[in-house]
Amino acid sequence: MKSINDLTRDEIKEVLTQLGQPAYRATQICEWLHRRRAMSFDDMTNLPLALRSKLAKHFRITRVTKTEETVSDDGGTTKYVLKLADGGRIETVLLPHPRGATLCISTQLGCAYRCRFCATGHMGFKRDLSTGEIVDQVSFFKEYLPLDDDAPKTDTARAFSNLVFMGMGEPLANYKNLIRAITILTKEVGIGSRRMTVSTSGLPDKIMRLAREPYEVRLAISLNSPFDKRRKELMPVAGKTPLSELMSAARYYFAKRNRVLTFEYVLIAGENDRMRDAHALAALLRDVPAKVNLIALNPFPGSRHESPDKDRIRRFQSVLRERGKKVTLRKSLGCDILAACGQLGAKTGAKKRKRG
Ligand code: SAH
Ligand code: SF4
Repeated sequence: MKSINDLTRDEIKEVLTQLGQPAYRATQICEWLHRRRAMSFDDMTNLPLALRSKLAKHFRITRVTKTEETVSDDGGTTKYVLKLADGGRIETVLLPHPRGATLCISTQLGCAYRCRFCATGHMGFKRDLSTGEIVDQVSFFKEYLPLDDDAPKTDTARAFSNLVFMGMGEPLANYKNLIRAITILTKEVGIGSRRMTVSTSGLPDKIMRLAREPYEVRLAISLNSPFDKRRKELMPVAGKTPLSELMSAARYYFAKRNRVLTFEYVLIAGENDRMRDAHALAALLRDVPAKVNLIALNPFPGSRHESPDKDRIRRFQSVLRERGKKVTLRKSLGCDILAACGQLGAKTGAKKRKRG
């Protein structure tokens, strides 16, 4: 049986027409599905009973369910392990801050790209998430949704200011469902695409396609080395794409969107943290309006890599700054609970204040 959460409002309208029902009901159904997070058609109390039972004959509603919730010691970063209808488990991370929370969501169960430094890569690829599974990671936190009548209006920390596709998986490798999810999240859930960031290991054709979509999502490209050879060693997927091709796609994205690009760079001791790397990185980004987001490697059980020490990170940062690049050092929030970048999917780890 098909899951109705996977459908856009236009598709639900078509279904309603086929069922001999007025199309305007689609708006109500979408509201129940994605904002109020109805668990069954019976919950949709403003729909006629006959329509509810017709829908239930043709469709199911699929939801993620919480199996674990772990709060870190560093200010409330919370990792949620969410169970999918088929038993698969994904991770979603909530990072609250005073001006609104950031939610980091997953797009695949595992990842096929096997980057050497990433826990999700180590777990391998299980499957793509469906459109509904991507959206439900957001609806799950319905008290954080903008315009929710139940949310206290003055409490901005309890509204999403950013949605980042940086959890498990490669968003652009699940392109169709990603775009459908963005469609639902913007139109039904009410989160503007300008508040969304898609992080990618760098698939040029998909980056160019994304540039042509009617959504203004921010793009973050995981670079991790300014040299083709080293980048390929760290990120096997890069073997298919020379940096020159990736940079052309990045420039194309900028030309279409006119928004500063972000380049993520995970600093790994002895692999990509030489000052030579910093200089080459600055040179590579010379003519691109870009911000560099440095991330000190977050270790996870079974990984062979380490983060460079603080001093080295600072020096790396200074080289980029001196050469005119904007640099931020991403705080590894949630490191103690394996909720930080690249730790999602790690099998073991300290559990702090486990709830649920
Ligand atoms: N697949 C996408 C999005 C998920 S990974 C991508 O690769 O961009 C999100 C970010 O976490 C990427 O920038 C990635 O380089 C980074 N990352 C992966 N493993 C990490 C680790 N162990 N420590 C710190 N960052 C890591
Ligand atoms: Fe996949 Fe991104 Fe991890 Fe690489 S860094 S294995 S692309 S999730």
